[in-house]
Amino acid sequence: MYFVPDGTQVCGYYECEDCEMRFLDLRIAPRIVCPYCGEEVDMEIGPDDEMPQVEEKAVLVKVVEGDEVERMDGLLSLALTGGDFDWI
Ligand SMILES: [Zn+2]
Repeated sequence: MYFVPDGTQVCGYYECEDCEMRFLDLRIAPRIVCPYCGEEVDMEIGPDDEMPQVEEKAVLVKVVEGDEVERMDGLLSLALTGGDFDWI
């Protein structure tokens, strides 16, 4: 399994509005911070500056359960390594 641990029974399938990354995540929420483009916090910001706004750009497309977790994980990781998105 590429995105979630082996044996995962339920996970969320997300698509990021910013980087268009499609991925699975154990968290299930309507929107989460994209782990691929959303966690680059600028460390040079001082304590007096406003906290950078971390935007939740990844939108939950669907909740994936059971055997579909492994299937989706396989398809999505295949897409990452040069496959196409024809299956959608
Ligand atoms: Zn992203």
